[in-house]
Amino acid sequence: MRASTYCVYCGVLMNRIVNDPHSRTVEHMIPQVSVSIHRTNGEGDFHACKKCNSEKSRVDEILGVICRMVGDNTDGSFDAINNFHKALSRKDSRFKQAFQSVSHSQRGTSITLPLTAKELYRYGTWLGKGVYFIQRGELLPENLIVWVELIGHEEVIFIKEQYRRQHGSDAFDDLSQNNRIKNVNKESFLITSDDARVMFVCLNRVVMFHIKIIDDTYINQKKCKKVLRSLEKRIGKLKK
Ligand SMILES: [Zn+2]
Repeated sequence: MRASTYCVYCGVLMNRIVNDPHSRTVEHMIPQVSVSIHRTNGEGDFHACKKCNSEKSRVDEILGVICRMVGDNTDGSFDAINNFHKALSRKDSRFKQAFQSVSHSQRGTSITLPLTAKELYRYGTWLGKGVYFIQRGELLPENLIVWVELIGHEEVIFIKEQYRRQHGSDAFDDLSQNNRIKNVNKESFLITSDDARVMFVCLNRVVMFHIKIIDDTYINQKKCKKVLRSLEKRIGKLKK
């Protein structure tokens, strides 16, 4: 784990005061809830302030449980279904919304992520800053911004099918064998350029965030707004 004095997500100087919003916490960038093995605090990626950590945790839980439920790992799916049930029984509104979105057709069962485009974009921003820090050991400088595109489950399935046709094997199994690509329990993958300017973060082999770190210019800010608008139009469904 890489230590830091400042929060990797918001840049605030962290303290050791219990329950202070800026107190230092250990962050698993790929959250524990989306991994089918248990990791300790020592296996965290870096430090983040309590405020950012708890804001991200809420999205971690939704994304983690639902992606793992849909993903290929059988034990993981079973455990995630249990978590989903628990969330429903505590009447969690987001999980209720997800449950009500389940639809069945000839093409399979699908479930819609109960997250807004803005929440997914913000999540991608956290991932971008996290990968940048893991890769380069420094916080994202203020003159750079994060551009985020979500590659939905249908597109991931399409990419996997194309890959299988060309190579005769599973794309993610092959990625797991590649020493240069970081993975967490062969479920989630961090694929990044050496300078961490372009990256793909894949969660549970289900959805993928395509992230670019770009200069903070007027044109680039417009590019970020444009990609957010297109995400708003096509919030992806997950299939099983
Ligand atoms: Zn923070």
